[in-house]
Amino acid sequence: MRILVIGSGLAGINTALLASEFAAVTLLSKADLSETNTRRAQGGIAAAISSLDDPDTHAADTIRAGAGLCDPQAVHALTADGVAAIERLLRLGVEFDRAESGELSLAMEGAHSTPRVLHAGGDETGLHIQSALLNRLAEADVDVRSGVTVTELVMDAGRCVGAITDARETILADATVLATGGAGALYRVTTNPLTASGDGVALALRAGALLRDMEFVQFHPTSLAVGGSAFLISEALRGEGARLLDATGERLMAQVHPDAELAPRSVVANAISASMQRDATDHVWLDISHRGAEFLQARFPGVHRGALERGWDITAGPIPVAPAAHYHMGGVYTDIDGRTTVPGLFAAGECASSGAHGANRVASNSLLEAAVFSARVAAAIQTGPAAAPTPAGQIDRMPLSPHASAPSWDDLHETMSEFAGITRTADGLRSALERFDRWTDTDTEDPSLPLATLTARLIAEAALQRRESRGAHLRLDFPDERPSWRRHSLHQLVIE
Ligand SMILES: Cc1cc2nc3c(=O)[nH]c(=O)nc-3n(C[C@H](O)[C@H](O)[C@H](O)COP(=O)(O)OP(=O)(O)OC[C@H]3O[C@@H](n4cnc5c(N)ncnc54)[C@H](O)[C@@H]3O)c2cc1C
Repeated sequence: MRILVIGSGLAGINTALLASEFAAVTLLSKADLSETNTRRAQGGIAAAISSLDDPDTHAADTIRAGAGLCDPQAVHALTADGVAAIERLLRLGVEFDRAESGELSLAMEGAHSTPRVLHAGGDETGLHIQSALLNRLAEADVDVRSGVTVTELVMDAGRCVGAITDARETILADATVLATGGAGALYRVTTNPLTASGDGVALALRAGALLRDMEFVQFHPTSLAVGGSAFLISEALRGEGARLLDATGERLMAQVHPDAELAPRSVVANAISASMQRDATDHVWLDISHRGAEFLQARFPGVHRGALERGWDITAGPIPVAPAAHYHMGGVYTDIDGRTTVPGLFAAGECASSGAHGANRVASNSLLEAAVFSARVAAAIQTGPAAAPTPAGQIDRMPLSPHASAPSWDDLHETMSEFAGITRTADGLRSALERFDRWTDTDTEDPSLPLATLTARLIAEAALQRRESRGAHLRLDFPDERPSWRRHSLHQLVIE
């Protein structure tokens, strides 16, 4: 059996390692193998490993934050497989931080009701996971190729049978796995690498796969507001007592939510955005200096170093922070074993909509999702190439054209950041769609730009259709959650 895995983050490498035990595996990555969202993860990975915790409590926390759109079956798969996923990462060589007693140390984060977040190297969890995976990949029998962008999936009689690369090479496979990560790079300010442009979602759509909940993009409340590529200031700082202050030095979250700084991300991001608008400033302040330099340097070495490199010292006083595009909850619809609605095509990790996050992701659940569902994908491939049944619900079917490329990344960033960002309105979203309609030029050297444009368009379409605010989707013209909208958005192309 031949398996093609597209992506070298946690989802892709874990699938490839497991699949190499029973198949010939090729793994592709469009940039350097470690240029992933996985490598950037800071805070950690959540799992109910403590004797005071259990998968049902973890599931309940996840479902509460998901604003009515989590698939309970997927959430239970996530939390029930969580402990096994951590054990596997330990076996693969990830050295999670331990207390002096030798026990794994667990941190508290927003929306989790108990400490359950494992971390490595303090706040360099992703770096440790990525390195361990790359070490194992180097030893495994996998054909690994970096600097290769997949531009199209190959279809034969309604089945996915491989992919075509930017070098026009066709790679045939019995099963193809999308592990292409997120879509933060559709926006001007993002914590993601520029490679995270939602390619896999567009590839799947063009192949006829169903997409779900595309409008739900999470904006991380706290990136360091110093311009350029956003440096993430981990949620874990707020877990350790960091306070958000407005321009006048007043505590920002105390009046907004009972959990204050540990409220769900969308609540915190929206409160920061509103405060910035009120005070006509491009940042608010985050202060954790009261925890002392010794503690902060040991617990947050990455954030401490990264902020210092950008001119700010977390041990000395408040630092300026602002929201940045961070995580895409929506994506390629899958069942709980990572099957898409196209036979032969699987998806895992951030590019998938497994149903585990609903309308709002809980911090530290996405690394877990990548670890758990990649293992489920590998197991499902072994049992055959079957497709997921189409879920119940109204599907918005769109024609294949017009789907041209944005003229440039700047045009795409401006459109998405201005009209489909942290807060949205019908007028703004219509303006975005008019721009997409005007773009006809597909003559671009960058193979990802047409894919990114299609994914961006779907986000804007879905955001316009959802006439309510829910989870990370905030409509200024429909500020409330509406019971009639407690349903998924489903999109599919009409393939002739
Ligand atoms: C700054 C930051 C901090 C985070 N912190 C946390 C955290 O503490 N805890 C947590 O749970 N989550 C965190 N997340 C989210 C988490 O890191 C990601 O959701 C997760 O790592 C996604 O893994 P993945 O394998 O799906 O994708 P990625 O790790 O992003 O890998 C995607 C891969 O796909 C490849 N690719 C994309 N398109 C193509 C194409 N067309 N052709 C070929 N290859 C392609 C890329 O090159 C890359 O190799 C964080 C994210 C960021 C950005």
